[in-house]
Amino acid sequence: KNMQIGFIGLGNMGGPMARNLAAAGHSVTGFDLSAPMPEGVTAAATAAEAADARDVVITMLPNGAILKSVAADILPSMQAGSVLVDCSTVEVDAARAVAADCAASGLGFLDAPVSGGVGGAAAGTLTFMVGGDDKSFEAAGPLFEIMGQKAVHCGGAGNGQAAKICNNMILGVTMIATCEAFALADKLGLDRQSMFDVVSTSSGYSWSLNAYCPAPGVGPQSPADNDYKPGFAAELMLKDLRLSQAAAEAADADTPMGAAARTLYEDFVEKENGKGQDFSAMLPRFEQRGRS
Ligand code: NAD
Repeated sequence: KNMQIGFIGLGNMGGPMARNLAAAGHSVTGFDLSAPMPEGVTAAATAAEAADARDVVITMLPNGAILKSVAADILPSMQAGSVLVDCSTVEVDAARAVAADCAASGLGFLDAPVSGGVGGAAAGTLTFMVGGDDKSFEAAGPLFEIMGQKAVHCGGAGNGQAAKICNNMILGVTMIATCEAFALADKLGLDRQSMFDVVSTSSGYSWSLNAYCPAPGVGPQSPADNDYKPGFAAELMLKDLRLSQAAAEAADADTPMGAAARTLYEDFVEKENGKGQDFSAMLPRFEQRGRS
């Protein structure tokens, strides 16, 4: 059925997601501080107006602090029984705090961060990892089907964000491991095609190597073949690695590899030339370095 949807945060990800909902026949009212309205989306003057009397309100914002401030603005104008679906990547604790505020106001809440990037947002092939109650998950299900190809219900509020940061911690660690191994192989005189052919079919394989190979000219097309233009920018990987380290600290979890990945991406983005480069540009970084 046609749903009344409010969509707040229409940037690189939110813009195409909102456009796909409108193209599927839903009534979408949008608000953003600066981004243009996507095709088919009606502009609201404020976030509260975009959220007023909708069945579902979706947010796709930069971080948890902004999510909390937008939630404080819009909760009073949301209709009883409606659901707030936050698709941003934010702290587990921020998602749980907004979930509690929604519950106190008689509203449903889902944290539903995504994997798949801007390409997946445009094509409607995102994966959603979702935390929240069953009733809200069922209400938003048809919208996940339009914007994505898969929605995994991971449990209660915050569990979607937990899944997202754990996934991206593995991704950061395997990308670094793959890049340092390629740089070592270079120094040992192994050519990169042989390295790829062996590892991609041996026990060192991973998504980072097989699907997103950091070595140019080897393996499938990837940002390495486009001068390391993102793709998935190193500073976004750093953001996610900081989220997993903050969560590990709060939960007293020992995550030494995640911590090392965070430090390496921090140096890469803040002290080296990594900002604005794809996160797989760790390979030229290691190539240029010696032991010390
Ligand atoms: P973006 O910066 O392109 O979009 C964010 C939008 O939010 C901007 O248009 C900005 O104007 C708007 N905004 C900021 N404050 C606002 C406010 N108070 N009210 C209304 N609008 C406001 O970022 P993005 O790439 O679309 O990413 C959004 C979220 O998705 C982030 O949490 C990011 O980590 C996550 N994410 C991004 C990708 C990716 O590949 N870009 C992939 C997965 C997840």
